[in-house]
Amino acid sequence: MHCSEFRTALSARVDGEGLPPGVTGAALDAHLLGCAECCAWGDRARRLRVLAARFDLG
Ligand SMILES: [Zn+2]
Repeated sequence: MHCSEFRTALSARVDGEGLPPGVTGAALDAHLLGCAECCAWGDRARRLRVLAARFDLG
């Protein structure tokens, strides 16, 4: 699987949605441990999510 697929799953998790078919939480966590880029991407996504919630944007 590519980083882009994990990022799709990560963004779903951040949004509180279900993971896409074919991606398990364990696989996502394992990828995050080994991929600094996706780890940083996930941090940004979480921060944006918090900001959006604070300003009631979504
Ligand atoms: Zn990655």
